[in-house]
Amino acid sequence: MPDWSERGSVSASDVYACLNGRFKGDLLRPGEGGYDDARVVWNGMVSRFPCLIARCADVSDVQMAVRAASAAGILTAVRCGGHSLAGFGTCNGLVIDLSRMRQVTVDADRRRARIGGGCLLGSIDCATQKSGLVFPSGVVSHTGASGLILGGGTGWLTRRFGLSCDNVEGFTLVTADGSHVHCDQTENPDLFWALRGGGGNFGVVTEFEIKLHPLTSVLLGEGLCAESDIHRLLQFWREFMADAPFDLKWNIDLHLASAAKKVPAELRGRPVAGNSVLWTGEPDRGHPLLERALSLCHRDSVRTRLMSFLELQTMADLDFPHGRRYYTKSGYFPDLDRTTIDRLLATLSEIPSPDTQVELAYLGAAAAQVSPAETAFGDRSAPIILNLLANWSEPALDAANIAWVRRNFQRLRPNMKPGVYVNFMSGDEQDRVPEAYHQLWARMVEVKSHYDPANFFRLNQNVRPGNYPEKLP
Ligand SMILES: Cc1cc2nc3c(=O)[nH]c(=O)nc-3n(C[C@H](O)[C@H](O)[C@H](O)COP(=O)(O)OP(=O)(O)OC[C@H]3O[C@@H](n4cnc5c(N)ncnc54)[C@H](O)[C@@H]3O)c2cc1C
Repeated sequence: MPDWSERGSVSASDVYACLNGRFKGDLLRPGEGGYDDARVVWNGMVSRFPCLIARCADVSDVQMAVRAASAAGILTAVRCGGHSLAGFGTCNGLVIDLSRMRQVTVDADRRRARIGGGCLLGSIDCATQKSGLVFPSGVVSHTGASGLILGGGTGWLTRRFGLSCDNVEGFTLVTADGSHVHCDQTENPDLFWALRGGGGNFGVVTEFEIKLHPLTSVLLGEGLCAESDIHRLLQFWREFMADAPFDLKWNIDLHLASAAKKVPAELRGRPVAGNSVLWTGEPDRGHPLLERALSLCHRDSVRTRLMSFLELQTMADLDFPHGRRYYTKSGYFPDLDRTTIDRLLATLSEIPSPDTQVELAYLGAAAAQVSPAETAFGDRSAPIILNLLANWSEPALDAANIAWVRRNFQRLRPNMKPGVYVNFMSGDEQDRVPEAYHQLWARMVEVKSHYDPANFFRLNQNVRPGNYPEKLP
């Protein structure tokens, strides 16, 4: 990942001198109490030593930090939850840390909420569930809401209520010149368009105005499918999902089954397809659909249960802990033909770590109903998202895991259509950013050039402004 930190320490002293005494939040420098914890991000593959961490208490702190950093010319990262797979939430320069800005204000009558730019998904879920309401977001509650929403945001409720960014009605942000700007459908509509899918390119979002929906419990069916049945399963999945109801979401992940007691003995340690089928409508209507969807699974592995929305949103938290090592590559399949399925199955024969997996999700439904030009989200028409996600703990296994992802991505690439979901990109894929936005690219560059002509916000899936040099001098 590029890191332009040569001027870091000199510029950081300038920034510190400028903020010290006026900044209401915390200013953390190397060697000071709290710094070591504050510098760490979720992906253990990413280790940076910021010269200064400015943990903002409010909007005026964010404005001060942006202005001071911009004047000093210091490389700056903006961090909400620190879950960027690429590690964009940190750098060796300045980190603008929003973790003190986690306020959530729910207006239950209007089914609306205002959330601070530092919120984690869990803080939104807990606050909105008090009124029996939900915001459609991601599947792990310790993920940051800002990065997720700004890149698009997919999760359990995407087919029912759309992407996270489809459920934002307004943003308030600090732009590169330190201005505090609001945008929505009528005010600064170009910015409103770009922020829904365009990532952290345009400024520091300090508040999101979001739409909520009533939902408190769901029906979830899970089951494991043996290797010999995965081909049939994926063909069935593709056909089933093509006209599945909006209330149904079915995710598949290919991995090696664990040795846990709940896993049937003959599947333990073997390649399997894990199935998670969610139904958000009336449970009676969901049961037969879940039964059908899980019909190819090993029958001792199948279980279906009603659960609270909060349980659903936290059940994967422990599978993706902070500090492990992660590497990913992603793409879209327009369909799953025989060759694609064969190649997917081949990935399993050489999986380098028991937690490494191939994730498949089917979008469509509500997400596909929004017109492609309405937001900056790259591609709503490609229903199948593939994510090759390596997850391991030993540095000695770095090379094997990264090579597995790269090799299989190259093998599968001919079966993909151009495009990638920006939030699933790794840090070595800046060349794919234009591909991610394809027909929207020219408009993205135009908005970026207007709001951030010097590319101050560049630690992201970067949209370079017009006339910006390929490499920094
Ligand atoms: C465990 C895990 C589970 C995930 N699950 C899902 C999922 O279910 N669905 C999904 O769509 N994605 C998912 N993702 C991907 C996730 O959407 C991205 O990694 C996202 O960038 C995380 O946001 P963050 O705020 O935690 O990241 P950070 O590292 O804090 O920031 C990521 C990017 O957003 C920018 N940014 C952060 N806050 C702001 C702000 N307030 N204003 C402007 N820019 C900002 C940063 O500068 C950086 O470029 C998951 C990631 C992880 C690690």
